[in-house]
Amino acid sequence: MPGGAAPSPARHGHRATSVSSLSVTSTDTPDGVPGPGRPPSVDRLARDLAARPDASGLPAPLLVDVARRVVDALREQNGGAGPALDELAGRELRAAAERLLQPVVNATGVLLHTNLGRAPLEVHVPATATNLELDLATGDRGSRTERTGALLARACGAEAALVVNNGAAAVLLVLAALAHGRGVVVSRGELVEIGGGFRVPEVMEQSGARLVEVGTTNRTRRDDVARAVADPRHDVALVMQVHRSNYRIVGFTESVEVAELAGLGVPVAADLGSGLLDAACPWLPDGPPDWLAGEPAARQTLAAGADLVVFSGDKLLGGPQAGVIAGSSELVTRCARHPLARALRPGGLVLLALQDVALSYLRRDAHRLPFWRMATTPLDPLRERAAAVAAAAGHGVAAVEVASVPGGGTLPGVEIPSAGVAARGDLRAALRRADPPVVARVAEDRTVLDLRTVDPTDDGHVAAALRAAVER
Ligand SMILES: *Cc1c(COP(=O)(O)O)cnc(C)c1O
Repeated sequence: MPGGAAPSPARHGHRATSVSSLSVTSTDTPDGVPGPGRPPSVDRLARDLAARPDASGLPAPLLVDVARRVVDALREQNGGAGPALDELAGRELRAAAERLLQPVVNATGVLLHTNLGRAPLEVHVPATATNLELDLATGDRGSRTERTGALLARACGAEAALVVNNGAAAVLLVLAALAHGRGVVVSRGELVEIGGGFRVPEVMEQSGARLVEVGTTNRTRRDDVARAVADPRHDVALVMQVHRSNYRIVGFTESVEVAELAGLGVPVAADLGSGLLDAACPWLPDGPPDWLAGEPAARQTLAAGADLVVFSGDKLLGGPQAGVIAGSSELVTRCARHPLARALRPGGLVLLALQDVALSYLRRDAHRLPFWRMATTPLDPLRERAAAVAAAAGHGVAAVEVASVPGGGTLPGVEIPSAGVAARGDLRAALRRADPPVVARVAEDRTVLDLRTVDPTDDGHVAAALRAAVER
């Protein structure tokens, strides 16, 4: 969320969970208390709900929905045993507030948690017009994606780059623009499903390109690709390499390096997924962390001979949701001119955020991005925070050593040593009820909170939420 645009409702007690006493008036009873089996009218209840402190911020139509649920529940009780109106109203108001998009504390230890919006990012967006599609030098119409694309291209050593809505959109656009009605060679070992319904063969079909599978699940050689490219029946327009982001093939394996694919006579596109700009991580004072070893990076993949690389904005790049197509300016231009590019373009808020991220990489201070800050926090300060949180949370909470993971479909099997706190039993539901909600994980009948993915300013809140959850 653009933090500067509007105060977040959740940070301001929007989800106050206390159930205030409620004077609900019923049309049926003179004393304002609905009699047994006689629920109040929905409209009347909705109006009364508006006066409750825990309803603040919910607009009238949503309060009507809440009131309807309460009245339905009361009808179902039909005068028998069940929660009182006051309690039902509190429960339904909380459920309505929980359905809204809001900040949460990520204590899962998964740095790029897709359910939690992947890379966290602070964005300040003033309520002003921007030169989104205006060239200030000439006064002519400009391209919204070229300026951010140019910065990212500079940061990863590409001739040009184009920004679209997400990584999936970037893959779709590359295939549609460069291979519609023609063949695209992909190794059988890379026909992956990334998750969330993104399956390479299906995206291929939607783009109008024809999949030409080569090799086997565990082994694909340069010759397999070369033979397919040379076969005129396949009419190959593109060789695509897909990063096996979220799983590994181990054992008797062989795969083709990008360098071996270059020079086969057709463009090579690499779907990197993760968005690591440069394997040398020049933006990190201590260089690349050990756990990043082996992750493909945009600069090195292009240098090895790929004509295009495709990656997400909100994975290892640490930016907003976006997809980047970077590489040869001729191919990037063909993607930009395709009609789908208009449908897949990002909005001004995203481009502004992504521009900040790109400038940060060019200044080599991307270690300040929340993702890199969290990913590279040393163990000692995490242990100190864990001890402090455990002490503040009190009885039943202990500091523990844990392992964070990069997440976001990157670096499968990789663990980053970390520290956190743990308590017995499954306290997740209680922690999600905190304001803001705290998201934890459960392992071996313990609730574990990893502090690597928690902003230090949230430690006090985490301790208080944990104390409340344990006491309950
Ligand atoms: C994550 C990923 C995608 C999809 O990117 P989104 O930004 O989630 O749309 C595509 N390909 C690979 C290899 C990925 O890892």
